[in-house]
Amino acid sequence: MRISMVIFAFAVSSALSCKTASVAQESAPPKEASPKLVVGIVVDQMRYDFLTRFADQFGETGFNRMMREGYNAKEHHYSYAPTFTGPGHASIYTGTTPAHHGIISNGWYDVITDTSTYCAGDKTVMGVGSTSSLAQMSPRKMITTSMCDELKLFSNQRSKTIGVSIKDRGAILPAGHSTDGAYWFIGGTEGNWITSTYYRESLPSWVEKFNSTRKVDEYLSTPWDLLLPASEYASSLPDNNPYEGAFIGGVRPTFPYQLDSLAAKNGNYDILKAVAWGNSLTLDFAKAAISGESLGTDDHCDFLAMSFSSTDYIGHQFGPQSREAHDAYLRLDIELGEFFTYLDETVGMGEYIVFLTADHGAVQVPSHLEKLKIPSGYWNPGNMIEDTKAMLVRRFGEGDWVENYSNDHFFLNRALIHQKGLDAENVQRAIANFVLNYDGVHNALTRSDLLLPNKVDGLATLIKNGYHPKRSGDVVLIIEPGWLQYSTRTGSSHGSAHAYDTHVPFLIYGPGVNQGASYTRTHIRDIAPTICALLGIQMPNGTSGKVMTEILD
Ligand code: ZN
Ligand code: ZN
Ligand code: ZN
Repeated sequence: MRISMVIFAFAVSSALSCKTASVAQESAPPKEASPKLVVGIVVDQMRYDFLTRFADQFGETGFNRMMREGYNAKEHHYSYAPTFTGPGHASIYTGTTPAHHGIISNGWYDVITDTSTYCAGDKTVMGVGSTSSLAQMSPRKMITTSMCDELKLFSNQRSKTIGVSIKDRGAILPAGHSTDGAYWFIGGTEGNWITSTYYRESLPSWVEKFNSTRKVDEYLSTPWDLLLPASEYASSLPDNNPYEGAFIGGVRPTFPYQLDSLAAKNGNYDILKAVAWGNSLTLDFAKAAISGESLGTDDHCDFLAMSFSSTDYIGHQFGPQSREAHDAYLRLDIELGEFFTYLDETVGMGEYIVFLTADHGAVQVPSHLEKLKIPSGYWNPGNMIEDTKAMLVRRFGEGDWVENYSNDHFFLNRALIHQKGLDAENVQRAIANFVLNYDGVHNALTRSDLLLPNKVDGLATLIKNGYHPKRSGDVVLIIEPGWLQYSTRTGSSHGSAHAYDTHVPFLIYGPGVNQGASYTRTHIRDIAPTICALLGIQMPNGTSGKVMTEILD
C-alpha cells in the first residue's frame, strides 16, 4: 500500500514538473506561491531551547506539525542589540535592524525634545475603545515599511492586513503604517481589545461583539493549574523556588493560581497578561479577526500578524526554568495545534503560510546561575553614572556633561562639548575607558566607533546594527553575559547581544516552503525578504537581510 502510494506520488509529481517545464518554455515566468493568508506568529521571549527542552511533551499538531510539514531554521539569531520587544517585532517585519527602522528600544531618551519616548506612543492620536493614554498609539516612530505595508502596496490595497497582540507594540509595529487595523488589549478595570484614531474612528462591530462576550471574565474565574501531573515537569525547577516572583498578595509562587482573588491587587484584568490564559485570549481574538475581516477568503493574500505576549510576562516573573513557563508552552503547543486545524478548515489546507519566531530570548535567572557557580550578577549603574559625571568635571571642567543614561547608552551634552571646543571623540573615549572599572561591564563603544565603517567586530557588530545615528547615545556599554539590570533577584529579562537573547526559533510551513531543517546561521532580518520572496512581492524598503533560499521550494 505504502509503496504504491509512493509510486503514485512520484508519477503525479513528475507529471506536474513536466507540465511546469513546458509552461515555462512557452511563456509564463515561474509563479510564486499564492497563499490566501499569511499568519505571522511571534512568541514573546521564546528561547530556541524551549523547542528542544519540551519536545517530548509537545503533541503532533502544534510546534511538531510546523517542524514536520515545514522548515526549522535551528540557528536563527538576532543580529543586533538591544533585544527588546519593540525592536524585535519591528525587525521581524521590516527585514532590517534598529540602525535602519529606528525602533532602538521599547522606550528611549529623545535627544531633540529632552524627554523619554515610547516606541509606539503617539500623543497626536486618541484611543478607540478606551480613553486611557495607553490607547494613544501608532507606528509613526518606525521609519521603514513592514512586509504588511508592502503587501498592501503590491495588491493595490486589495490585500487585508491585521495586527493582534496583548501588547500594543506587538500588534502595531508588525502591522505597519498602511494596515487595515492593529488591536491590542487594555487590562486594568477595562479588559477590552482596543485601537486608536491612527487606524479608525470607531471599533469594528466584530471587535465590539468580541469585547461584549466578556470572555475575560471566564478566564479570570478559571484558576491556572498545571496541565499535567507535577511529576511531568522534571525538566523545570520545583514549583516553589527562590528564583521566581509571587503575585502581589499571593503567599507563594505556586499552582494553582486563583486569579479572581489575586486580580484586585495585580491590576485587575492585567493579571490575565501574566498567565497562560493571556495567550488563549489572543487566539480567541485572532479567530474573531479572521472571521470578522474575512481574512483568507479571496484571491488577494491577506496577512494576520499576531504576537503572544504572556510568555514574556511569565518569563519576567517566574524565569525560563520555572514550571510556570513550562506549563505555558505545553498549553501554547495544544492551542497552536487547534488553531492550525481551524486554519485548515476555514482558509484551507495548503492555502496559507504560517511562520513562528520570537522577538528575543531570555537569560536564565542570574540568582539561579550564581547558585550554580556560573558567572552572573545584578548590574546597578547608579554609582557608575555619578562617578562618570565627576570624572568628566575633573577632566573637562564644570558642566552637566551627561544629559541622560538609559538602555546602557550615555547621552552627552553635545552643545557643551561644542561650546568648549572639545573633540567629542575624546570625551566619549574618556567615558568608555573609565566604565571598564566596573563589575558587569564587558566593554564600551563610542559613537565615533559605531558610525565609522568596519571599526567594530564580534559582539560590537550587534551593537552597531542596533545603533541609530539620530536616536542613539554617545557611549554604549556592553554588559557581561549572565548580568541583568533588575530590581529583584527573581525572574528573567533580555536585551543583551548574548546568545541566550539572540537565539530564537524560526519555523515555517505552507505552500512554497520546503520541508527540512538546517544549522546554517540565519538572522531575524532575513524573515521579511524570505516571506516577500514567497509571495513574489517587493521586500520592505529598509531590508538589509537576505532571502533564506534553502527554505524556498
Ligand atoms: Zn518581548
Ligand atoms: Zn512556581
Ligand atoms: Zn520582556
